[in-house]
Amino acid sequence: MVGAGPAGAELARLLAQAGVAVILVDRLLDLRQGAFSSAALPLAALSEFGLPAELVASRWSQWQLLGPKGPWRQWQANTALGAVLDFGGLRHWLAQQAQAWGAELRLGWTVQSTAYRGGVMGTSLRGVAGARLELESDWVIDATGAARALVGALQAEVPLVTGVGLEWLLAVDQCQWSQWRDRLSFVLGSRWVPQGYGWVFPMAPGQLKLGVCRLVDAGRGQPALHQLQQLLLELTGLRGAQVLDRHGGLIRSSIQRRESHGEGRLLGLGDAVSTANLLGGEGIRHAMASARVLAAPLLKALTSNNSPLPAYRRGLTQKLGWRWPISGRLARRTWMGLHSPKADQRLEQLLVGLEGCRAEELSALLFNYQFERYGPRLCRYLLGR
Ligand SMILES: Cc1cc2nc3c(=O)[nH]c(=O)nc-3n(C[C@H](O)[C@H](O)[C@H](O)COP(=O)(O)OP(=O)(O)OC[C@H]3O[C@@H](n4cnc5c(N)ncnc54)[C@H](O)[C@@H]3O)c2cc1C
Repeated sequence: MVGAGPAGAELARLLAQAGVAVILVDRLLDLRQGAFSSAALPLAALSEFGLPAELVASRWSQWQLLGPKGPWRQWQANTALGAVLDFGGLRHWLAQQAQAWGAELRLGWTVQSTAYRGGVMGTSLRGVAGARLELESDWVIDATGAARALVGALQAEVPLVTGVGLEWLLAVDQCQWSQWRDRLSFVLGSRWVPQGYGWVFPMAPGQLKLGVCRLVDAGRGQPALHQLQQLLLELTGLRGAQVLDRHGGLIRSSIQRRESHGEGRLLGLGDAVSTANLLGGEGIRHAMASARVLAAPLLKALTSNNSPLPAYRRGLTQKLGWRWPISGRLARRTWMGLHSPKADQRLEQLLVGLEGCRAEELSALLFNYQFERYGPRLCRYLLGR
C-alpha cells in the first residue's frame, strides 16, 4: 500500500483486519506532520467510517458565505452539521489501527517504480540519505493522492482539472475566535479569489484555518496564492494573527472519472483515481469510501485469479452516484469561469437563490450534490445563461 493518506491507511486497516499481510508505505516520516488538508466533512462521515471523537478538532453548525457583491450570508442549523478533523491525527490514527491489526508501517520511503516480474510485484523505494529498498508483494495499491506516483503513467490520456491550495493555521484571540467558530466561512468572487475561493474554518479553540484554492488555468495569467491569501487576511481582519503552520497541496480529478484504475496487480485508490470532489474541494470521505469499495473484490482476488477491477470500478461509480459528474461539471464551470464581472453576477444570482434555503439543505447541496430542487436554475447556470 503506497500512501498512508485516508485512502491507503483505511484499506490497509481493512485488509489487515481480514488477516492479509500488508505493508503500508509513506514518504512522510511522521504522519502527523504536513497536514495539508482543511479536513472539513459532514457529520455523517464520522459514523460511516467509525472515526473517534479524538480526531474531531471542532464542529460546525453554520454556513457563512461572502459573495462577489460583499454581504456575508448566514445559514444556521440548530445542531452540528459537520466537523473539522485534525488531518494529521486522522492519518496517524488510521495507520496505528492498521498496525494494531498486523500491518507493517514503513515511513520515510518514497516509491519510485513498480513492475510485475517473475510472478510478483517488485517495488523500488528511496529513503532518507539516498537509502534504497526493494519490496516484493502480490499486489501494489497506489494511494499516493494527487501525485498518482504509479498509476499516473496509465492515465496519461485523461485530462485532469487541478486545484492548488494554500492554508495557514492561525492562533487568534478570544474575540476573533468567537467571530469564526462553529461555522464554515467561504469567500466567493473574482475580486477576492479569481477562479477559486477562500475560507476560514475553526480548528481548536483559539485556532483558525485560513486558506485559498484556485483551479489551474494554463491559458490565463493567475495571481500568486500568497497574494490572494494576504487579501483574505486583510478582508477577514486576521492579519497579524500568529501563524502556527503553513501548508498546502493539490486537489486533482478528472470530471468523468474515465481514467485507468489500474492494470494487472497494480490498482489506484482515492485521489489517485479522482475521488476528490472539485466543487467543495473535499475528498477525505470519498477516498475512504474507495477503500471500502475495493476491499471486498480485492480480498476475493487474493484467493482466485479474477481481476478485482470490474467490480471495483462498478462499485465506485455506484458509490459516488449519478450526481458526481454533474458536480464535477458544475465545479469546472463555477471555479474555472470565475474571472469576470459576468461570472460574479451569475454567482451572486445563485447565492440570492439560495437565501431561502435552510442550512441543512445547503449541506445536502454541497455534500450530497442534491441539485434536483434547483433544476431549471441550475441548468441555466450550467449553460451560462
Ligand atoms: C488545501 C486543501 C484543502 C482540502 N480540504 C479538504 C476538506 O476540507 N475536506 C476534505 O474532505 N478534503 C479536503 N481536501 C482533499 C483531501 O485532503 C483529499 O481528497 C484526501 O486527502 C485524499 O486522500 P488520499 O488518501 O487519496 O490521498 P492523500 O491524502 O493525498 O494521501 C497520499 C499519501 O501518499 C503519500 N505519497 C505521495 N507520493 C508518494 C510516493 N511516491 N511514495 C510514498 N508515499 C507517497 C503522501 O505523503 C500522502 O500521505 C483538501 C485538499 C487540499 C489540497
